[in-house]
Amino acid sequence: MFEKRRPGAVLFDRDGTLIRDVPYNGNPDLVEPMPGAMEAVARLRRAEVPVAVVTNQSGVAKGLLSPDDMDQVNARVEELLGPFDAWAICVHDDADGCTCRKPAPGLVIRAAAVLDVSPRDCVVVGDIGRDMEAARAAGARGILVPTPQTRQEEILQAAEVADDLIDVVDLVLSDAEAPVPAISAPWARALGWSRW
Ligand SMILES: [Mg+2]
Ligand SMILES: [Zn+2]
Repeated sequence: MFEKRRPGAVLFDRDGTLIRDVPYNGNPDLVEPMPGAMEAVARLRRAEVPVAVVTNQSGVAKGLLSPDDMDQVNARVEELLGPFDAWAICVHDDADGCTCRKPAPGLVIRAAAVLDVSPRDCVVVGDIGRDMEAARAAGARGILVPTPQTRQEEILQAAEVADDLIDVVDLVLSDAEAPVPAISAPWARALGWSRW
């Protein structure tokens, strides 16, 4: 019988998922958490589920914000929501043909590798079809949290849809009510923060 387990990690899209989407934002003062983001991330940390961010930042490739601006915005995200166990960031644009820009699976694979979990044990949470395609391509579970900007066909195509981030945590932790096994592999936990 298939045994349900807590996820190895939950990987969040940033813009429109963890924080309000301000296109190409380089201003930390404009960072505003999405409803439920603080509670959702806190509950996952309490359940000892690693949390990470997987984000496309093509504004860097386009020259609309500097890497330093982006770092400051990300630092503000952590001030408001607490530290994430990994950040996987694509700073390329479509024309660069990289393997990390969602819908490619690179960010999901990279974050999972840093956290030392299988992408198949990861949940990817995002607000658009690109996030869900990246999840599927990496073999992860994708959960879409639509905003008014999400297109109808993206909602229809999503394997799972949640109302908000609290709903997401209810979904992923309901599979893991059982206590953590006494014997857990030492490599199953990420040590400290990972950045690259
Ligand atoms: Mg987004
Ligand atoms: Zn990339």
